[in-house]
Amino acid sequence: MRAWIITKIGPLSQDSLTLVDFPNPELAENEILIRVLACGVCHTELDEIEGRVEPSFLPVIPGHQIVGKVVEVGANATKFKLSDLVGAGWIYSACGKCKYCKEGLENLCSEFKGTGKDAHGGYAQYFKINQDFAFKIPKGFSPVEVAPLFCAGAIGYRALKLTNLKGTEDEILCLCGFGASNHLVLKLTKGLYPNTKVVVYARNPKERELALELGADLAFDFGEDPPEKFTAIIDTTPVWKPPISLLKHLAPGGRLVINNIRKENLDKDFLLNFDYARDLWLEKEIKSVANITRKDIEEFLEIAKKLELKPEVMTYPFESALEALFDLKEGRIKGAKVLLIGS
Ligand SMILES: [Zn+2]
Ligand SMILES: [Zn+2]
Repeated sequence: MRAWIITKIGPLSQDSLTLVDFPNPELAENEILIRVLACGVCHTELDEIEGRVEPSFLPVIPGHQIVGKVVEVGANATKFKLSDLVGAGWIYSACGKCKYCKEGLENLCSEFKGTGKDAHGGYAQYFKINQDFAFKIPKGFSPVEVAPLFCAGAIGYRALKLTNLKGTEDEILCLCGFGASNHLVLKLTKGLYPNTKVVVYARNPKERELALELGADLAFDFGEDPPEKFTAIIDTTPVWKPPISLLKHLAPGGRLVINNIRKENLDKDFLLNFDYARDLWLEKEIKSVANITRKDIEEFLEIAKKLELKPEVMTYPFESALEALFDLKEGRIKGAKVLLIGS
């Protein structure tokens, strides 16, 4: 099969990924083989390539927002039928036995495996996974529309749950950064909590424009002051200054949820501007979002179906994976990016 592989770690360059002929996956008895139709492009791929999140082996096929058709099933895999449309996300597996797995926090399992990092992912014509970690796609979604829901959407949903918002009228959610994930969180919040105000902070005027088009109540550039304090902030920017500079606008008892697997350290010095009295005192909290559980993905797919939630998508042919990653790194973004792999 044709597959993009990461062979070495270093700053993104034209040879960060190589398109090669790769052996087709061989199935264990509980696994299914998926012919990939679409795979979302996520910032985590940049983190892997550049070494902030190191793959556990090389070469590895990246990609963890995978949608395709079941074309083969292992001897004991009975959950899906051939040609079912299914998807897979960042959770490739977890141990199922530890305290966290038993408490529904498999995202925190020490044996958590990330798709496209600890197992081959979806930048390829075929992908295999244990049937228990694959999800049937609800009717009404096309592969391209549903692929970004598997990370940008589902982890955005987890971030929204972690804000503890309840949907009351006095709540204000601030979205710090407006890429693939937060534009879905905006749609999700407006669908689930129509009374909650959403304020978007984005550097790029086009992103602010898109935010207002998609229903944000206000959109600001960083450095501008909002009229009211935020109940919660969800940060998806890859750096420090944006979320830290917004902490002064967080209301007492409010929570900043950082939805990044890693931060780039380009502006780490900005952390010295952190002021305890102004930024954290009065029981403000800072919390990270780590990974994803199967329950998050299942719940989110149901909600997405109910709300008819569809991402704004930019598609790329399979051969243009590197171009998509450069566009992502350089911020030439509108919504989510998806590779078209098969039909
Ligand atoms: Zn992702
Ligand atoms: Zn576990």
